[in-house]
Amino acid sequence: MPIKAPRGTKDILPQEVGVWQYLEETFREVCSLFSYQEIKTPVFEEAALFVRGVGEDTDIVSKEMYNFKDKGGRELSLRPEGTAPIIRAYLEHSLYKEIPLLKLYYSGPMFRYDRPQAGRWRQFHHLGVEAIGSPQPALDGEVIALALYFLKRLKIKELNLQLNSVGCPTCRKTYQEVLQKHLKDKLPLLCSDCQNRFLNNPLRILDCKKESCQEVVRTIPPIFDYLCGDCREHFEGIKEYLEEMKIKYILAPHLVRGLDYYTKTAFEITSTHLGAQNALGGGGRYDGLVETCGGPSIPAVGMALGVERIIIALQEERIELPLKKKEETFIATVGEEAKREGFKLLSQLRAAGLAADLDYRPSSLKAQMRQGDKKGARFVIIIGEEELKKGLVSLRDLRQGKQEEIKKEEVIKVLKERRKL
Ligand code: AMP
Repeated sequence: MPIKAPRGTKDILPQEVGVWQYLEETFREVCSLFSYQEIKTPVFEEAALFVRGVGEDTDIVSKEMYNFKDKGGRELSLRPEGTAPIIRAYLEHSLYKEIPLLKLYYSGPMFRYDRPQAGRWRQFHHLGVEAIGSPQPALDGEVIALALYFLKRLKIKELNLQLNSVGCPTCRKTYQEVLQKHLKDKLPLLCSDCQNRFLNNPLRILDCKKESCQEVVRTIPPIFDYLCGDCREHFEGIKEYLEEMKIKYILAPHLVRGLDYYTKTAFEITSTHLGAQNALGGGGRYDGLVETCGGPSIPAVGMALGVERIIIALQEERIELPLKKKEETFIATVGEEAKREGFKLLSQLRAAGLAADLDYRPSSLKAQMRQGDKKGARFVIIIGEEELKKGLVSLRDLRQGKQEEIKKEEVIKVLKERRKL
């Protein structure tokens, strides 16, 4: 039996990769427009980084991490998310000393051992940003605006922005007490995980995916009523910013997201087309994470979008991305001498920056033409005995359905002109 890709992972095949490249390139463009710089961190880190940063009681850390020991006995984890690694790098290289407000973006695979289903993979891909160094609500607004601007550039329409504030450690303490009081006599209705969370981390109950727990969560009083003055002012600040930017939002009082590091803002962008796994992305503020990771107290905010989910939304909304059309030239030859001429021409075209290829197998002219067509080549250059004798080549433009004979020396010039048509 041939070996298959591990459960929950997916190959991105050549016929699909154009969409991925388009998404990554557009994300790069948008981030650069918003003045964010790229950062790349390793796909594995010390396990302790996520235990400390993301939180021991979260599903991500307690159930979904890919942990392993390397040959040197180090406890490592495949990264389940990008924020903690970026904060680790930020501290390791003392980036805060150089730039007081650092705006970073990243893209790459994340790993979570979750039950695979539509829109949920064990290896999936994030496009994300982190803005580190300011407590201002306008920065939260910018991060949200960037995510929505990117999704709108892709022409995704059916989007909802869910907005909440999860408060700071001070008001969260009050809210935890409110939660415990409210849930005390509802404990038997909660799953065993949530019963454990009740004492350690009751806010996590809001994030439980089980329907029976969600039913209880719906009766919980909203966190807005318990925010301290500072958190309330911050929340009002974001709302004002969003309203000024004409960004619509829905208040989502039970949205806490699956990571413990969030403070104040928590948001999620959902699509009506995605079914159960309806979040295209989300994020929030994490004013305590830099300090938790051993650095100074520096506030920050970030978000991540899921590439696989964006692709599902594009398919569901039947959006055709304007992928670049290939302008490749395929060289078809008949006979040994023509083949040699073909190879010579091939390297001349490539040296001139024109994408080109030929058939490396012994094939008939017809098969070569078919091959060129299948590869989506725009032009086919045919060199046969006739052409050799005359010092010409035949140039067929497959898009325009025209064929002409041109001088060998003029091929590059003519191709460059025709590509503009
Ligand atoms: P999170 O870090 O959980 O907030 O993830 C941000 C986004 O990544 C989500 O809104 C999803 O779009 C995507 N995502 C998270 N987990 C998965 C997964 N297991 N499979 C596919 N996409 C995911």
